[in-house]
Amino acid sequence: MDLTTHPYDDDKFHEECGVFGVWNHVDAAALTALGLHALQHRGQEASGIVALSEAGVFNTHRGLGLVGDIFGDAKVMAQLPGRAACGHNRYATTGETALRNVQPLYADFEFGGFAVGHNGNLTNAQVLRRALVKRGCLFQSSTDSEVFIHLIAISLYTNVVDRLIDALKQVQGAYSLVALHDGALIGARDPLGVRPLVLGSMPNAGGQPSWILASETCALDIVGAEFVRDVEPGELVVIDDSGLRSIKPFAQTASRFCIFEYIYFSRPDSVVEGTGVYETRKLIGAELARESHIAADVVVPVPDSGVPAAMGYARESGIPFELGIIRNHYVGRTFIEPTDQIRHLGVKLKHSANRAMLEGKRVVLVDDSIVRGTTSKKIVEMVRLAGAAEVHMRVSSPPTTHSCFYGIDTPSRRQLLAAQHNIEEMARLIGVDSLAFISLDGLYRALGYGKRNNAAPQFCDACFTGEYSIPLIDWPSEQPQPALIPGK
Ligand code: SF4
Repeated sequence: MDLTTHPYDDDKFHEECGVFGVWNHVDAAALTALGLHALQHRGQEASGIVALSEAGVFNTHRGLGLVGDIFGDAKVMAQLPGRAACGHNRYATTGETALRNVQPLYADFEFGGFAVGHNGNLTNAQVLRRALVKRGCLFQSSTDSEVFIHLIAISLYTNVVDRLIDALKQVQGAYSLVALHDGALIGARDPLGVRPLVLGSMPNAGGQPSWILASETCALDIVGAEFVRDVEPGELVVIDDSGLRSIKPFAQTASRFCIFEYIYFSRPDSVVEGTGVYETRKLIGAELARESHIAADVVVPVPDSGVPAAMGYARESGIPFELGIIRNHYVGRTFIEPTDQIRHLGVKLKHSANRAMLEGKRVVLVDDSIVRGTTSKKIVEMVRLAGAAEVHMRVSSPPTTHSCFYGIDTPSRRQLLAAQHNIEEMARLIGVDSLAFISLDGLYRALGYGKRNNAAPQFCDACFTGEYSIPLIDWPSEQPQPALIPGK
Protein backbone atom coordinates (compact mmCIF):
# COMPACT_ATOMS: atom_id res chain seq x y z
CA MET A 1 0.00 0.00 0.00
CA ASP A 2 1.27 3.51 -0.89
CA LEU A 3 0.96 5.37 2.38
CA THR A 4 0.66 9.11 2.51
CA THR A 5 1.54 11.21 5.51
CA HIS A 6 -0.22 14.27 4.19
CA PRO A 7 -2.89 15.12 6.76
CA TYR A 8 -5.17 16.80 4.21
CA ASP A 9 -5.11 13.97 1.72
CA ASP A 10 -8.62 12.53 1.97
CA ASP A 11 -7.84 9.67 -0.42
CA LYS A 12 -10.90 10.18 -2.59
CA PHE A 13 -11.58 10.48 -6.28
CA HIS A 14 -12.00 14.21 -6.89
CA GLU A 15 -14.49 15.89 -9.14
CA GLU A 16 -12.62 18.14 -11.47
CA CYS A 17 -14.73 21.20 -12.08
CA GLY A 18 -18.01 23.02 -11.76
CA VAL A 19 -19.54 25.41 -14.28
CA PHE A 20 -22.21 28.07 -14.04
CA GLY A 21 -23.72 30.63 -16.44
CA VAL A 22 -26.36 33.37 -16.38
CA TRP A 23 -28.24 35.13 -19.18
CA ASN A 24 -30.47 38.13 -18.65
CA HIS A 25 -30.10 39.07 -15.01
CA VAL A 26 -29.03 42.44 -13.69
CA ASP A 27 -26.76 40.76 -11.10
CA ALA A 28 -25.30 38.14 -13.43
CA ALA A 29 -21.80 38.11 -11.90
CA ALA A 30 -23.10 38.04 -8.32
CA LEU A 31 -25.40 35.10 -9.16
CA THR A 32 -22.45 33.38 -10.78
CA ALA A 33 -20.32 33.85 -7.66
CA LEU A 34 -23.14 32.37 -5.56
CA GLY A 35 -23.55 29.47 -7.96
CA LEU A 36 -19.83 28.75 -7.89
CA HIS A 37 -19.94 28.87 -4.11
CA ALA A 38 -22.63 26.16 -4.14
CA LEU A 39 -20.42 24.15 -6.52
CA GLN A 40 -17.30 24.55 -4.39
CA HIS A 41 -17.18 20.79 -3.73
CA ARG A 42 -16.45 20.30 -7.47
CA GLY A 43 -13.21 22.26 -7.33
CA GLN A 44 -11.34 24.21 -4.70
CA GLU A 45 -8.13 25.26 -6.39
CA ALA A 46 -9.27 28.23 -8.44
CA SER A 47 -12.30 30.10 -9.75
CA GLY A 48 -13.07 32.61 -12.45
CA ILE A 49 -15.95 34.69 -13.80
CA VAL A 50 -16.28 36.38 -17.18
CA ALA A 51 -19.10 38.97 -17.39
CA LEU A 52 -20.50 40.72 -20.44
CA SER A 53 -21.40 44.37 -19.81
CA GLU A 54 -24.40 46.11 -21.40
CA ALA A 55 -21.90 47.96 -23.59
CA GLY A 56 -20.67 44.62 -24.96
CA VAL A 57 -17.37 44.64 -23.05
CA PHE A 58 -16.10 41.42 -21.47
CA ASN A 59 -14.60 41.76 -18.00
CA THR A 60 -12.94 38.91 -16.20
CA HIS A 61 -11.60 38.07 -12.78
CA ARG A 62 -9.83 34.87 -11.84
CA GLY A 63 -7.99 33.74 -8.76
CA LEU A 64 -6.46 30.79 -6.95
CA GLY A 65 -8.32 29.61 -3.88
CA LEU A 66 -11.92 29.42 -2.75
CA VAL A 67 -14.84 31.30 -4.31
CA GLY A 68 -15.54 33.35 -1.18
CA ASP A 69 -11.94 34.55 -1.03
CA ILE A 70 -11.79 35.45 -4.73
CA PHE A 71 -15.22 37.09 -5.13
CA GLY A 72 -15.97 38.22 -1.57
CA ASP A 73 -14.79 41.78 -2.22
CA ALA A 74 -17.40 44.29 -3.45
CA LYS A 75 -14.69 46.08 -5.50
CA VAL A 76 -14.02 42.89 -7.44
CA MET A 77 -17.72 42.37 -8.14
CA ALA A 78 -18.11 45.98 -9.23
CA GLN A 79 -15.63 45.25 -12.03
CA LEU A 80 -17.96 42.57 -13.43
CA PRO A 81 -21.07 44.48 -14.53
CA GLY A 82 -23.60 43.14 -17.01
CA ARG A 83 -26.61 40.90 -17.54
CA ALA A 84 -24.67 37.82 -18.65
CA ALA A 85 -21.79 35.91 -17.08
CA CYS A 86 -20.19 32.52 -16.90
CA GLY A 87 -17.97 31.02 -14.23
CA HIS A 88 -15.90 28.00 -13.38
CA ASN A 89 -14.42 26.22 -10.34
CA ARG A 90 -11.29 24.27 -10.99
CA TYR A 91 -9.82 21.15 -9.46
CA ALA A 92 -6.75 20.61 -11.60
CA THR A 93 -6.23 17.29 -13.30
CA THR A 94 -4.62 18.52 -16.49
CA GLY A 95 -2.30 21.46 -16.39
CA GLU A 96 -0.57 22.75 -13.28
CA THR A 97 -2.19 25.03 -10.75
CA ALA A 98 -1.45 28.47 -12.16
CA LEU A 99 -3.50 31.53 -12.96
CA ARG A 100 -3.07 30.93 -16.70
CA ASN A 101 -5.01 27.66 -16.34
CA VAL A 102 -7.92 29.16 -14.43
CA GLN A 103 -11.15 29.17 -16.41
CA PRO A 104 -13.32 30.45 -18.01
CA LEU A 105 -10.78 30.80 -20.80
CA TYR A 106 -11.34 33.93 -22.86
CA ALA A 107 -10.25 34.96 -26.35
CA ASP A 108 -10.98 37.78 -28.79
CA PHE A 109 -11.99 36.40 -32.19
CA GLU A 110 -12.88 38.16 -35.40
CA PHE A 111 -16.54 37.67 -34.39
CA GLY A 112 -15.94 39.16 -30.92
CA GLY A 113 -15.15 37.91 -27.43
CA PHE A 114 -15.75 34.29 -26.40
CA ALA A 115 -15.41 32.69 -22.97
CA VAL A 116 -15.65 29.00 -22.12
CA GLY A 117 -15.61 26.95 -18.93
CA HIS A 118 -15.27 23.16 -19.14
CA ASN A 119 -16.05 20.33 -16.73
CA GLY A 120 -14.64 17.03 -17.92
CA ASN A 121 -11.57 15.77 -19.68
CA LEU A 122 -10.73 15.47 -23.35
CA THR A 123 -9.15 12.14 -24.23
CA ASN A 124 -7.64 13.38 -27.50
CA ALA A 125 -6.48 16.81 -26.27
CA GLN A 126 -2.76 16.06 -26.65
CA VAL A 127 -3.15 14.84 -30.21
CA LEU A 128 -5.26 17.88 -31.11
CA ARG A 129 -2.86 20.22 -29.35
CA ARG A 130 0.16 18.89 -31.22
CA ALA A 131 -1.68 19.31 -34.52
CA LEU A 132 -2.81 22.84 -33.61
CA VAL A 133 0.67 23.89 -32.51
CA LYS A 134 2.04 22.62 -35.85
CA ARG A 135 -0.49 24.88 -37.55
CA GLY A 136 0.86 27.85 -35.61
CA CYS A 137 -1.60 28.07 -32.71
CA LEU A 138 -0.03 29.64 -29.64
CA PHE A 139 -1.34 28.02 -26.46
CA GLN A 140 -1.51 30.23 -23.39
CA SER A 141 -2.25 27.51 -20.84
CA SER A 142 -1.54 23.85 -20.23
CA THR A 143 -5.18 22.87 -19.75
CA ASP A 144 -6.85 20.50 -22.22
CA SER A 145 -9.82 22.90 -22.47
CA GLU A 146 -7.81 25.41 -24.50
CA VAL A 147 -8.14 23.23 -27.61
CA PHE A 148 -11.77 24.45 -27.80
CA ILE A 149 -10.52 28.03 -28.25
CA HIS A 150 -8.09 27.14 -31.06
CA LEU A 151 -10.49 24.80 -32.83
CA ILE A 152 -13.06 27.62 -32.85
CA ALA A 153 -10.41 30.07 -34.10
CA ILE A 154 -9.45 27.97 -37.12
CA SER A 155 -12.97 26.83 -38.00
CA LEU A 156 -14.11 27.88 -41.47
CA TYR A 157 -17.71 28.41 -40.35
CA THR A 158 -18.77 32.02 -39.93
CA ASN A 159 -21.40 31.65 -37.21
CA VAL A 160 -20.15 31.28 -33.58
CA VAL A 161 -22.45 28.37 -32.77
CA ASP A 162 -21.44 26.53 -35.96
CA ARG A 163 -17.79 27.08 -35.09
CA LEU A 164 -18.36 25.63 -31.61
CA ILE A 165 -20.17 22.62 -33.08
CA ASP A 166 -17.29 22.19 -35.52
CA ALA A 167 -14.89 22.15 -32.54
CA LEU A 168 -17.05 19.73 -30.53
CA LYS A 169 -17.10 17.31 -33.44
CA GLN A 170 -13.30 17.09 -33.31
CA VAL A 171 -12.86 16.52 -29.59
CA GLN A 172 -13.34 13.24 -27.79
CA GLY A 173 -13.95 12.81 -24.11
CA ALA A 174 -16.25 14.13 -21.48
CA TYR A 175 -17.37 17.73 -21.47
CA SER A 176 -20.05 19.87 -19.98
CA LEU A 177 -19.43 23.40 -21.22
CA VAL A 178 -20.75 26.83 -20.47
CA ALA A 179 -19.73 29.40 -23.09
CA LEU A 180 -20.51 33.09 -23.51
CA HIS A 181 -20.23 35.41 -26.48
CA ASP A 182 -21.81 38.79 -27.00
CA GLY A 183 -24.95 37.28 -28.55
CA ALA A 184 -25.68 34.25 -26.40
CA LEU A 185 -24.99 31.95 -23.48
CA ILE A 186 -24.37 28.38 -24.62
CA GLY A 187 -24.41 25.11 -22.73
CA ALA A 188 -23.21 21.81 -24.21
CA ARG A 189 -22.81 18.20 -23.09
CA ASP A 190 -20.80 15.49 -24.78
CA PRO A 191 -22.75 12.87 -26.77
CA LEU A 192 -22.62 10.35 -23.88
CA GLY A 193 -23.53 12.95 -21.25
CA VAL A 194 -20.82 11.76 -18.88
CA ARG A 195 -20.71 14.93 -16.78
CA PRO A 196 -23.84 16.75 -15.57
CA LEU A 197 -25.29 20.08 -16.75
CA VAL A 198 -28.69 21.47 -15.78
CA LEU A 199 -30.85 24.31 -17.00
CA GLY A 200 -32.80 26.61 -14.72
CA SER A 201 -34.78 29.81 -15.00
CA MET A 202 -36.19 32.58 -12.85
CA PRO A 203 -38.81 35.20 -13.60
CA ASN A 204 -37.56 38.59 -14.65
CA ALA A 205 -39.37 41.92 -14.59
CA GLY A 206 -38.40 42.52 -18.23
CA GLY A 207 -40.61 39.71 -19.60
CA GLN A 208 -38.02 37.18 -20.82
CA PRO A 209 -36.89 34.98 -17.90
CA SER A 210 -33.35 34.85 -16.57
CA TRP A 211 -31.66 31.63 -17.63
CA ILE A 212 -29.15 29.66 -15.59
CA LEU A 213 -26.81 26.82 -16.57
CA ALA A 214 -25.11 24.90 -13.77
CA SER A 215 -23.31 21.65 -13.07
CA GLU A 216 -25.81 20.74 -10.36
CA THR A 217 -29.24 21.76 -9.11
CA CYS A 218 -27.80 22.87 -5.74
CA ALA A 219 -26.42 25.89 -7.64
CA LEU A 220 -29.91 26.70 -8.95
CA ASP A 221 -31.29 26.53 -5.43
CA ILE A 222 -28.81 29.02 -4.03
CA VAL A 223 -29.82 31.71 -6.55
CA GLY A 224 -33.54 30.93 -6.28
CA ALA A 225 -33.87 29.52 -9.81
CA GLU A 226 -36.31 26.80 -10.79
CA PHE A 227 -34.96 23.60 -12.30
CA VAL A 228 -36.16 23.38 -15.91
CA ARG A 229 -34.42 20.22 -17.16
CA ASP A 230 -31.09 18.52 -17.70
CA VAL A 231 -29.21 19.56 -20.81
CA GLU A 232 -29.37 16.33 -22.78
CA PRO A 233 -26.35 14.29 -23.83
CA GLY A 234 -25.06 15.65 -27.14
CA GLU A 235 -27.26 18.75 -26.90
CA LEU A 236 -26.33 22.43 -27.20
CA VAL A 237 -28.68 24.96 -25.68
CA VAL A 238 -28.27 28.45 -27.10
CA ILE A 239 -29.83 31.15 -24.96
CA ASP A 240 -30.26 34.68 -26.27
CA ASP A 241 -32.72 37.56 -25.97
CA SER A 242 -35.27 35.71 -28.08
CA GLY A 243 -35.28 32.69 -25.76
CA LEU A 244 -33.74 29.23 -25.81
CA ARG A 245 -33.11 26.94 -28.72
CA SER A 246 -31.86 23.37 -28.65
CA ILE A 247 -29.43 21.95 -31.20
CA LYS A 248 -28.53 18.26 -31.44
CA PRO A 249 -25.64 17.97 -33.87
CA PHE A 250 -24.61 14.42 -32.94
CA ALA A 251 -26.11 11.07 -33.84
CA GLN A 252 -28.34 9.87 -31.02
CA THR A 253 -26.68 7.32 -28.75
CA ALA A 254 -27.46 5.87 -25.32
CA SER A 255 -26.04 8.01 -22.53
CA ARG A 256 -23.25 7.01 -20.13
CA PHE A 257 -23.73 9.31 -17.20
CA CYS A 258 -21.04 8.99 -14.52
CA ILE A 259 -22.41 6.62 -11.87
CA PHE A 260 -19.96 8.04 -9.32
CA GLU A 261 -21.93 11.32 -9.31
CA TYR A 262 -24.60 9.42 -7.33
CA ILE A 263 -22.11 7.78 -5.00
CA TYR A 264 -19.87 10.68 -4.07
CA PHE A 265 -19.29 13.66 -6.38
CA SER A 266 -22.62 15.48 -6.41
CA ARG A 267 -23.85 17.37 -3.40
CA PRO A 268 -26.46 15.34 -1.49
CA ASP A 269 -29.13 18.04 -1.94
CA SER A 270 -28.76 17.98 -5.74
CA VAL A 271 -31.13 16.19 -8.08
CA VAL A 272 -29.08 14.42 -10.72
CA GLU A 273 -30.70 13.22 -13.94
CA GLY A 274 -34.08 13.30 -12.21
CA THR A 275 -32.96 11.45 -9.08
CA GLY A 276 -32.34 12.95 -5.63
CA VAL A 277 -28.75 12.22 -4.60
CA TYR A 278 -29.37 12.02 -0.85
CA GLU A 279 -32.19 9.50 -1.12
CA THR A 280 -30.24 7.50 -3.71
CA ARG A 281 -27.28 7.22 -1.37
CA LYS A 282 -29.58 5.91 1.37
CA LEU A 283 -30.97 3.33 -1.09
CA ILE A 284 -27.41 2.27 -1.96
CA GLY A 285 -26.69 1.87 1.78
CA ALA A 286 -29.84 -0.25 2.19
CA GLU A 287 -28.80 -2.47 -0.72
CA LEU A 288 -25.34 -2.80 0.82
CA ALA A 289 -26.92 -3.92 4.09
CA ARG A 290 -28.99 -6.56 2.27
CA GLU A 291 -25.92 -7.84 0.44
CA SER A 292 -23.42 -7.90 3.29
CA HIS A 293 -25.24 -7.88 6.62
CA ILE A 294 -23.17 -8.59 9.70
CA ALA A 295 -24.10 -8.74 13.38
CA ALA A 296 -22.99 -5.47 14.98
CA ASP A 297 -23.92 -2.92 17.67
CA VAL A 298 -23.57 0.31 15.78
CA VAL A 299 -23.39 1.69 12.22
CA VAL A 300 -20.91 4.57 11.95
CA PRO A 301 -20.42 6.68 8.82
CA VAL A 302 -17.05 7.96 7.69
CA PRO A 303 -18.11 11.61 7.50
CA ASP A 304 -19.30 13.45 5.60
CA SER A 305 -19.71 11.54 2.39
CA GLY A 306 -20.50 8.19 4.03
CA VAL A 307 -23.43 9.57 6.06
CA PRO A 308 -26.46 8.96 3.78
CA ALA A 309 -25.31 5.44 2.85
CA ALA A 310 -24.76 4.65 6.55
CA MET A 311 -28.28 5.92 7.32
CA GLY A 312 -29.68 3.59 4.67
CA TYR A 313 -27.55 0.70 5.97
CA ALA A 314 -28.73 1.29 9.56
CA ARG A 315 -32.40 1.58 8.59
CA GLU A 316 -32.28 -1.62 6.54
CA SER A 317 -30.22 -3.65 9.05
CA GLY A 318 -31.97 -2.38 12.19
CA ILE A 319 -28.57 -1.60 13.74
CA PRO A 320 -28.46 1.83 15.46
CA PHE A 321 -26.83 4.69 13.55
CA GLU A 322 -24.35 6.77 15.54
CA LEU A 323 -21.86 9.51 14.73
CA GLY A 324 -18.85 7.59 16.02
CA ILE A 325 -16.46 9.76 14.03
CA ILE A 326 -16.61 13.54 14.12
CA ARG A 327 -15.23 15.57 11.25
CA ASN A 328 -13.44 18.88 11.71
CA HIS A 329 -14.84 21.09 8.94
CA TYR A 330 -12.21 23.77 9.39
CA VAL A 331 -9.24 21.82 8.05
CA GLY A 332 -8.58 22.95 4.53
CA ARG A 333 -5.93 23.29 1.93
CA THR A 334 -5.41 26.90 2.94
CA PHE A 335 -4.17 25.77 6.35
CA ILE A 336 -0.40 25.79 6.84
CA GLU A 337 1.50 23.01 5.12
CA PRO A 338 2.19 20.27 7.66
CA THR A 339 5.57 20.26 9.31
CA ASP A 340 7.37 17.03 10.11
CA GLN A 341 6.37 17.54 13.74
CA ILE A 342 2.64 17.34 12.99
CA ARG A 343 2.66 14.90 10.10
CA HIS A 344 2.15 11.99 12.49
CA LEU A 345 -1.20 13.47 13.48
CA GLY A 346 -2.35 12.49 10.02
CA VAL A 347 -6.06 11.85 9.74
CA LYS A 348 -6.71 13.11 13.30
CA LEU A 349 -6.61 16.68 12.04
CA LYS A 350 -9.72 15.96 10.02
CA HIS A 351 -11.49 13.16 11.93
CA SER A 352 -11.76 12.33 15.63
CA ALA A 353 -13.18 9.26 17.30
CA ASN A 354 -16.30 9.76 19.41
CA ARG A 355 -15.18 7.26 22.05
CA ALA A 356 -18.54 6.96 23.86
CA MET A 357 -20.13 5.61 20.66
CA LEU A 358 -17.32 3.13 19.89
CA GLU A 359 -15.92 1.66 23.09
CA GLY A 360 -16.67 -2.04 23.45
CA LYS A 361 -18.90 -1.98 20.34
CA ARG A 362 -18.97 -4.08 17.20
CA VAL A 363 -18.76 -1.30 14.64
CA VAL A 364 -19.89 -1.26 11.00
CA LEU A 365 -17.98 1.60 9.35
CA VAL A 366 -19.66 2.82 6.17
CA ASP A 367 -17.69 4.77 3.57
CA ASP A 368 -18.47 5.65 -0.05
CA SER A 369 -15.23 4.37 -1.58
CA ILE A 370 -11.75 3.08 -0.98
CA VAL A 371 -9.17 4.53 -3.35
CA ARG A 372 -5.65 3.89 -2.07
CA GLY A 373 -6.83 2.79 1.36
CA THR A 374 -4.57 5.22 3.18
CA THR A 375 -7.31 7.15 4.96
CA SER A 376 -9.37 4.01 5.61
CA LYS A 377 -6.40 2.39 7.36
CA LYS A 378 -5.93 5.41 9.63
CA ILE A 379 -9.63 5.70 10.44
CA VAL A 380 -9.82 2.01 11.34
CA GLU A 381 -6.77 2.43 13.61
CA MET A 382 -8.47 5.40 15.25
CA VAL A 383 -11.70 3.47 15.82
CA ARG A 384 -9.79 0.54 17.33
CA LEU A 385 -7.82 2.87 19.59
CA ALA A 386 -11.14 4.26 20.81
CA GLY A 387 -11.94 0.76 22.08
CA ALA A 388 -14.10 -0.80 19.33
CA ALA A 389 -14.46 -4.56 19.88
CA GLU A 390 -14.76 -5.32 16.14
CA VAL A 391 -14.50 -3.14 13.04
CA HIS A 392 -16.32 -4.15 9.85
CA MET A 393 -16.09 -1.91 6.80
CA ARG A 394 -18.89 -1.62 4.26
CA VAL A 395 -18.37 0.42 1.11
CA SER A 396 -21.19 1.94 -0.95
CA SER A 397 -19.33 1.63 -4.25
CA PRO A 398 -17.85 -1.44 -5.95
CA PRO A 399 -14.04 -1.75 -5.72
CA THR A 400 -12.37 1.07 -7.70
CA THR A 401 -10.05 -0.94 -9.87
CA HIS A 402 -9.45 1.53 -12.74
CA SER A 403 -8.54 5.15 -13.22
CA CYS A 404 -10.96 7.70 -14.61
CA PHE A 405 -10.05 9.63 -17.78
CA TYR A 406 -13.26 11.59 -18.01
CA GLY A 407 -12.66 14.51 -15.69
CA ILE A 408 -12.08 12.94 -12.30
CA ASP A 409 -8.79 13.12 -10.48
CA THR A 410 -7.74 9.55 -9.77
CA PRO A 411 -4.46 7.90 -8.92
CA SER A 412 -2.86 5.53 -11.42
CA ARG A 413 -4.00 1.90 -11.30
CA ARG A 414 -0.77 1.01 -9.51
CA GLN A 415 -1.97 3.08 -6.55
CA LEU A 416 -5.55 1.82 -6.46
CA LEU A 417 -5.82 -0.68 -3.63
CA ALA A 418 -8.53 -2.72 -5.36
CA ALA A 419 -6.47 -2.97 -8.55
CA GLN A 420 -3.63 -4.60 -6.67
CA HIS A 421 -5.34 -6.76 -4.03
CA ASN A 422 -8.32 -9.02 -3.53
CA ILE A 423 -10.87 -8.24 -0.82
CA GLU A 424 -9.26 -10.43 1.84
CA GLU A 425 -5.89 -8.77 1.27
CA MET A 426 -7.51 -5.34 1.34
CA ALA A 427 -9.22 -6.15 4.64
CA ARG A 428 -5.88 -7.20 6.12
CA LEU A 429 -4.10 -4.08 4.84
CA ILE A 430 -6.78 -1.74 6.15
CA GLY A 431 -6.97 -3.66 9.42
CA VAL A 432 -10.68 -4.56 9.53
CA ASP A 433 -12.34 -7.75 10.72
CA SER A 434 -14.39 -7.89 7.53
CA LEU A 435 -14.72 -5.83 4.36
CA ALA A 436 -17.49 -5.80 1.77
CA PHE A 437 -18.33 -3.58 -1.20
CA ILE A 438 -21.69 -3.19 -2.86
CA SER A 439 -21.88 -5.33 -5.98
CA LEU A 440 -22.14 -3.69 -9.39
CA ASP A 441 -25.62 -5.14 -9.90
CA GLY A 442 -26.57 -4.05 -6.37
CA LEU A 443 -25.55 -0.50 -7.24
CA TYR A 444 -27.66 -0.58 -10.41
CA ARG A 445 -30.57 -2.04 -8.40
CA ALA A 446 -30.34 0.81 -5.90
CA LEU A 447 -30.50 3.23 -8.83
CA GLY A 448 -33.74 1.66 -10.00
CA TYR A 449 -32.46 -0.77 -12.62
CA GLY A 450 -32.96 -4.50 -12.28
CA LYS A 451 -29.27 -5.00 -12.91
CA ARG A 452 -26.46 -3.75 -15.09
CA ASN A 453 -27.06 -4.28 -18.79
CA ASN A 454 -23.67 -5.76 -19.63
CA ALA A 455 -24.20 -5.42 -23.39
CA ALA A 456 -25.05 -1.71 -23.09
CA PRO A 457 -24.45 -0.41 -19.56
CA GLN A 458 -26.83 2.32 -18.44
CA PHE A 459 -24.02 4.40 -16.89
CA CYS A 460 -20.30 5.00 -17.17
CA ASP A 461 -18.84 2.68 -14.54
CA ALA A 462 -15.37 2.29 -16.03
CA CYS A 463 -13.57 2.89 -12.72
CA PHE A 464 -15.24 -0.30 -11.43
CA THR A 465 -15.19 -2.37 -14.61
CA GLY A 466 -12.41 -1.04 -16.86
CA GLU A 467 -14.99 -0.80 -19.66
CA TYR A 468 -14.28 2.61 -21.14
CA SER A 469 -16.86 3.96 -23.54
CA ILE A 470 -14.87 6.88 -24.98
CA PRO A 471 -11.61 6.11 -26.81
CA LEU A 472 -8.49 7.06 -24.84
CA ILE A 473 -6.54 8.60 -27.69
CA ASP A 474 -3.94 10.16 -25.38
CA TRP A 475 -3.29 6.86 -23.60
CA PRO A 476 0.48 6.43 -22.99
CA SER A 477 1.79 4.30 -25.86
CA GLU A 478 3.80 2.01 -23.56
CA GLN A 479 0.62 0.80 -21.83
CA PRO A 480 -2.01 -1.41 -23.49
CA GLN A 481 -5.33 0.41 -23.97
CA PRO A 482 -8.19 -0.85 -21.85
CA ALA A 483 -11.16 -2.45 -23.58
CA LEU A 484 -13.71 -0.13 -25.13
CA ILE A 485 -17.38 -0.92 -24.89
CA PRO A 486 -19.60 0.00 -27.79
CA GLY A 487 -21.32 3.37 -27.70
CA LYS A 488 -24.83 2.00 -27.53
FE1 SF4 B 1 -17.38 8.46 -13.32
FE2 SF4 B 1 -15.81 6.35 -12.91
FE3 SF4 B 1 -16.79 6.87 -15.37
FE4 SF4 B 1 -14.93 8.44 -14.28
S1 SF4 B 1 -14.69 6.27 -14.87
S2 SF4 B 1 -16.75 9.10 -15.38
S3 SF4 B 1 -15.51 8.41 -12.11
S4 SF4 B 1 -17.94 6.31 -13.50
